[in-house]
Amino acid sequence: MKIYISVDMEGGTGIASAKHMRDAGYTRMCKLLTQDVNAAIAGAFAAGATEVLVNDAHGSMTNILIEELDERASLISGSNKQLLQMEGLDASFDAVFFVGYHAYEGNADGVMNHTIYGGAVTEIKRNGEVVGETAINAGIAGAYGVPVALVVGDDVLCREA
Ligand SMILES: [Zn+2]
Repeated sequence: MKIYISVDMEGGTGIASAKHMRDAGYTRMCKLLTQDVNAAIAGAFAAGATEVLVNDAHGSMTNILIEELDERASLISGSNKQLLQMEGLDASFDAVFFVGYHAYEGNADGVMNHTIYGGAVTEIKRNGEVVGETAINAGIAGAYGVPVALVVGDDVLCREA
């Protein structure tokens, strides 16, 4: 069983403010985010995964600490990526996890809610419905026939998912 994990950051453990995404706060949050990813990897293997691919998918896409990442997983780090947050996914995977994800721009009190790039994107609609990164990336997974099995973020994101 092959599991694909797309890892954003704003919905990671301990992240509640843009200050957490800068300077010393950022260094701390990279460590916590890597622990979130390790929990997802451990869950995947406990459930029978034989292969886990992790895609670092926030900002510069260099947030996950490879030296602290569960060594059973493979990591895609850095950018540019044609499929951005879904780089490396193909139809050979059995399930997708989204870790560290966040609600779409304007979705109530979602922690650090935004869509793609907060300074430029105010709203994206698909078939008339407002969507965020979770729905957009689930659509990419769906195009490959791969179901989304786990979404990790705050309570607003969970309702959105
Ligand atoms: Zn992000």
